[in-house]
Amino acid sequence: MRKIKVIHYPENCIGCNFCVLMAPGQWRINDDTGRAELIGGKPEGDQVTLEISAADREANQRAAESCPVQIIKVEESAE
Ligand code: SF4
Repeated sequence: MRKIKVIHYPENCIGCNFCVLMAPGQWRINDDTGRAELIGGKPEGDQVTLEISAADREANQRAAESCPVQIIKVEESAE
């Protein structure tokens, strides 16, 4: 089965909101930090990861492409 993961490196987030506009089901701006966060994401060191369904892949790919500081990645692995 293929796993699709979104990875965020929040430290350099500038809070521009593009990811929220592209994939509102997975992203929101944290009012305290002013940075985006992956809803339900799991922190691991300097990154946060979230497994998503295939249906959410395209929206999150658009989020990754629209991020001006390129801190969103979408990865697929066969696990
Ligand atoms: S698009 Fe990138 S910089 Fe903008 S809020 Fe989302 S993660 Fe942060």
